[in-house]
Amino acid sequence: MKDMYAEIIVDISCENLDHTFQYRIPEGIADRVCVGSRVLIPFGRGNREIAGFVLDISDNPRFDPQKTKSIISVQNDDTLVEQKLIMLAYWMKSRYGSTMNRALATVLPVKKNIRAKEKKSVRLLLSPGEAMEKLELFTAKKMVARARLLRELIDIPSIDYRLVTAKLNISAATIKALCDQGIVDVVSERLYRNTVNPTAKSQAVELNPSQKKIADDFISEYTKGVRSTYLIHGVTGSGKTEVYMQMIDHVVACNRQVIVLIPEIALTYQTVMRFYKRFGDRVSTLHSKLSDGERYDQFERARKGEIDIMIGPRSALFTPFSDIGLIVIDEEHEHTYKSDQMPKYHAREVAEKLASIHGASVVLGSATPSIESYHAAKAGKYKLYVLSERAKGALLPAINCVDLREELKSGNRSMLSEKLRLSIEERLANNEQVMLFLNRRGLAGFVSCRECGEVVKCPHCDVSLSKHKYGKLKCHYCGFEKSETGVCEKCGSRLIGAMGNGAGTQAVEEMIKKSFPQAVVLRMDADTTKQKGDYEAILSSFANREADILVGTQMIVKGHDFPFVTLVGILAADMSLNASDYRAAERTFQLLVQAAGRAGRDSRPGEVIIQTYRPDHYAVKAAMTQDYEAFYEEEMGYRGLLKYPPCGHMLAIMIESKDEKECAVFAGSLAEEVRNGIIGKVSVIGPTPATISRIKDIYRFMIYVKSENAEMLIKIKDTAEEYCIGTESNARVSFDLDPMNAY
Ligand code: ADP
Ligand code: ZN
Ligand code: ZN
Repeated sequence: MKDMYAEIIVDISCENLDHTFQYRIPEGIADRVCVGSRVLIPFGRGNREIAGFVLDISDNPRFDPQKTKSIISVQNDDTLVEQKLIMLAYWMKSRYGSTMNRALATVLPVKKNIRAKEKKSVRLLLSPGEAMEKLELFTAKKMVARARLLRELIDIPSIDYRLVTAKLNISAATIKALCDQGIVDVVSERLYRNTVNPTAKSQAVELNPSQKKIADDFISEYTKGVRSTYLIHGVTGSGKTEVYMQMIDHVVACNRQVIVLIPEIALTYQTVMRFYKRFGDRVSTLHSKLSDGERYDQFERARKGEIDIMIGPRSALFTPFSDIGLIVIDEEHEHTYKSDQMPKYHAREVAEKLASIHGASVVLGSATPSIESYHAAKAGKYKLYVLSERAKGALLPAINCVDLREELKSGNRSMLSEKLRLSIEERLANNEQVMLFLNRRGLAGFVSCRECGEVVKCPHCDVSLSKHKYGKLKCHYCGFEKSETGVCEKCGSRLIGAMGNGAGTQAVEEMIKKSFPQAVVLRMDADTTKQKGDYEAILSSFANREADILVGTQMIVKGHDFPFVTLVGILAADMSLNASDYRAAERTFQLLVQAAGRAGRDSRPGEVIIQTYRPDHYAVKAAMTQDYEAFYEEEMGYRGLLKYPPCGHMLAIMIESKDEKECAVFAGSLAEEVRNGIIGKVSVIGPTPATISRIKDIYRFMIYVKSENAEMLIKIKDTAEEYCIGTESNARVSFDLDPMNAY
């Protein structure tokens, strides 16, 4: 038998990934040494015995085998966080394709040698009665920020300083002013620990029968030791979050830890606060605006056992908890759960792997589940739970559709249909709020015919052309350019033009302000949320009814709960249908249903108006009737026909190089290698230039491999990786298994 060697890391941290040492694995323990194992090794000149972790195993000695030292013993310990994280990284590297170092760097926190900041809290010093009096005073004086903070403190008398400033968007000056008035004080953690009664936690709401049935079923299975993946398909506002919290409560009571993933954009003060109110300071949050040091601090708290629940975006999966019992993924259909960097992992899949390592369950939730998850539920792989009604008894909003082509025939050329205009007026008169949603994807001023709906496309790519200055139409992907003709090539109509201008939401905002001068209008898009805190400021201002109309992009559709919003207008529903990837219809359906879900969440009935040029498209039709099942069936027909996920799997291989020729040649030989290596039913497409064939002077070629069997694709990826290592080419190769975006 060949001698085997292990790469061992002694100080496991992101910074030391390059400092590994090779040791021989003695035959007697070979079957117990695996990636992640903790081993004892003789180290340094004095052969001091120290512990390390195995990162890789091979039969390839890096140095003279005679001089390579041997591992002394293996001490596998299932409770070690490091062991679990290394195993996870190894799985990620193997499945998604990347180096072990990159995979490890993804799961390990960056160590920072800075002293942890002292945790501060803002504390209410008044009695509830006094606080209510002050609150009335501030409200009457329109001191909005002070009122906002006070309202929260009446609910919870002590709140993390970071939350108050970052999420509640209260300035340090405001806090100071309240301190000076003797209304609040700011205390350090030590003091906070000693003074605040942990029973400040709020009572759980009483679950309604359908919520309770789900929570009870989960808990009973959990108690029996059943671990699986559950999908809660619950309409918007059906109380999924309450159900998660009930499940979490149970798992935490079993002394195990919980990770809750929420799309960054929905990680608002409202959501976070609900968790703090329920679970007190055993909760921590992560978000991408945290510095490395702050993130490291939160991970350290988890490692020390100071918290039980971590809430955050996909990277929260790598919280170093020693015994995870449950992973919740809210809004599981969100595309931000897929990483766009190597390894290009999907949080849902990693969660399932992590759960199997820890013996945990996974709970997915969405009003519009991804086709993949719903398919898995139908196939019996996931257990499906359904919540078909809104929790507070609110009715789902009435949904009306406006055919923009008809609107045009009657002489209305504005972006606002007559129906939507009248409805907005009505809401303003009633002192209610309106959200206007512009589905902006693909809207860089694309040109369409208002009579027949035809979109002007690039002859070389499956994308729409964008309008530029001087009447030029350009393809952003291939550079193709032509002059505007002013007539529709399909029907000859002259009613052809760019929808809005390039700025999209900005144009809408201006138009709305002109049409409704009495209204206060807020806009939320990438431009108005550049600074830290902008996003929260707009949302909290809208929540406090400081504005009547909120205009925005998909940013506004995620999980927010505004009780006074009774009308949601969707200005051009079909825009995202023009995107070029196979998920365009799914994404459109999800956006429409989620946007509609913002209306009428409280006692006031809601209305949704969808304006579209394609009222007959199945994604639009199904969104109108909120009929997920109908959409799913139609979409599965299409996926099945073309063998797109989940009816098959797809591996996208991207080859990048500064040199176009080298790129093409290498892509060609790689494709040939892949073709030669395949066995069974696999189809290889390409190489072809990527849809975006060049970015920043780097050429991109694609090879797509399709198979019904994901394992087959992983093998093909391994072959391709090996081939790349063996060649001299400078081209960079990366992999994406079941891509979420078109390349
Ligand atoms: P989802 O996560 O499905 O969108 P939420 O859990 O956010 O739904 O619930 C929507 C609203 O209904 C929230 O304001 C929540 O507090 C409330 N709610 C949920 N369940 C109940 C319940 N059983 N009783 C009263 N209110 C509830
Ligand atoms: Zn093009
Ligand atoms: Zn036309």
